Amino acid sequence: MVEGGTGAAGLRVVLWDIDGTLLHSRRHGAFKEYMAPALVRVFGTAGRLDEMVVSGMTDLQIFTEALHGEGFTAEQVRERLPELIELFLGGMRRMADEGELFQALPGARESLEALEREPRYLNSLLTGNVEPAARLKLRLVGLEDFFRLPGAFGELSHDRRDLPAVARERISRHLGRDLNPEQLVVIGDTPNDIACARHFGARAVAVATGRSHTPADLLRHSPDAVLPDLADTELLLRTLAAL
Ligand SMILES: [Mg+2]
Repeated sequence: MVEGGTGAAGLRVVLWDIDGTLLHSRRHGAFKEYMAPALVRVFGTAGRLDEMVVSGMTDLQIFTEALHGEGFTAEQVRERLPELIELFLGGMRRMADEGELFQALPGARESLEALEREPRYLNSLLTGNVEPAARLKLRLVGLEDFFRLPGAFGELSHDRRDLPAVARERISRHLGRDLNPEQLVVIGDTPNDIACARHFGARAVAVATGRSHTPADLLRHSPDAVLPDLADTELLLRTLAAL
């Protein structure tokens, strides 16, 4: 990978969301099948996980909101997060072994390859997944090698809007140069992806491949651009170049 083979100001770090953007589960809501048993093992209940719509939420937020009505505090959830992660990753691995759990979305690989070829762009991650879950999902669909830079993940906060600042800090330190907020481009499939970019002053590109939001829904949250999907690599490159 060429790191920063362009002028410092021209460099763009593309912060990819994972679920609904680069890949999806073959069965809608499959995550509940491995997260619920983990919550039950650790807390004795999965709370209201089954009825939750989790679009664009961080894993820490999902666990905390699921258990809130059961009297567990955010601190209690955070304290036991390592156990929860180990258990639900085990469940995810078992489900993946039994059949293909995740599927890369059309054009995801080609988009990552195209950006990797351009010195102006660096690929990284900004996702609600805890980091080990993010890495495992990407490995299961063969996309893990594109993400060697540090990123920002779902164990860091209950609020996705906190993640771009962390991504910038980590990547700036890794590169040994200070990135401006507008050098970051968040690509994701939900209003929360757009909101986290806006909150930080980063660019936002929405892709309408998630299961919860149409292009019109996403447009209402004022991203810099909306793409129907990642199938057209040239369109993605033109979109990023115009930001
Ligand atoms: Mg998503």
